[in-house]
Amino acid sequence: MIIVLKAEATKHDADEILNKIESAGLKPLYMPGTERTVLGALGDERVLQGLNITAHPMVDDVKPILSNYKLVSRELYPADSVVHIGSVPFGGEHFSIIGGPCAVEGLESFRASAEAAVKGGAVALRGGAFKPRTSPYSFQGGGKEALEVMQQVSKELGVPAVTEVMDTADIDLICQHVDALQIGARNMQNFNLLKAVGRTNTPVILKRGIAATIEETLLAAEYIVDAGNPNVILCERGIRTFETATRNTLDLNAVALMKRKSHLPVIVDPSHGTGIRELVGPLAKAAVAVGADGVIIEVHHEPKEALSDGKQSLYPDQFAQLMTELDAFIRAAGRRSSLRKAA
Ligand code: PEP
Ligand code: MN
Repeated sequence: MIIVLKAEATKHDADEILNKIESAGLKPLYMPGTERTVLGALGDERVLQGLNITAHPMVDDVKPILSNYKLVSRELYPADSVVHIGSVPFGGEHFSIIGGPCAVEGLESFRASAEAAVKGGAVALRGGAFKPRTSPYSFQGGGKEALEVMQQVSKELGVPAVTEVMDTADIDLICQHVDALQIGARNMQNFNLLKAVGRTNTPVILKRGIAATIEETLLAAEYIVDAGNPNVILCERGIRTFETATRNTLDLNAVALMKRKSHLPVIVDPSHGTGIRELVGPLAKAAVAVGADGVIIEVHHEPKEALSDGKQSLYPDQFAQLMTELDAFIRAAGRRSSLRKAA
């Protein structure tokens, strides 16, 4: 329920209503605005009706929140949320670029790929330390050592880093080494993991599951925010369809729709979305056009030697070229590019 207070309502009036909501066992939300204060009450609609909040003299309007997700909905928070990874903003007027290899393969290798990403224009680094691989015989990631490598290189280059978390037991360790957690497509509905990252303050990039609907994706984000962490960035990374010519089908409909339905930033992963190096650039540009707030792109200093996803990883010069081209699209879309200017 959304409760709009009258312009003359005081903080004392708001507190009175919030206390009433809380003592009925519902979740109270306080959202002071420049003109009006808006309150929220989340929980059983029948209990809410019983509170008879409309009768309060300082209440102007009471409206239900129609969507199943509430906290991530634009119905509740109409303005864009801006989520920061380190000092890098995602959302609002900002368009930001994350680059790096699929997996962290060792210090020299990660440093070379990360340098290529940053030199090209990335403002944040990616790289997997715990890899969700389809086959148990594929490279599973470097674990703690890989996290140490990420931390070192991220410090050397002065850019924040993001890595995937697959297990609740690894959350603390990962938070000590990097600036943001990624929940991968395969774990989008691992509800215990969602709740656990929701108990941290670390920003979360939540990737859409390979067979998840848009509503399920937003409800997954709701789990994280409901557990106390508002710093969620949604990521469209392609879904599985009947099409086999590309690794996945990048659903740009979802980007435009999620931006309408939710105030959270939405980024696009054209690397996993296509699985084809030559398609990463065109789909990154399309992402800007549909209103995405950033892209996350795989770039490797030597893709043919990569231990995972070499086929979709850009060469350093391709990445740099794409960043130059993308900058024009970002400006044309009226967005502020967080593209790093090459030294
Ligand atoms: C990745 O980012 O390397 C990855 C495994 O992503 P996804 O969960 O989207 O497959
Ligand atoms: Mn990958």
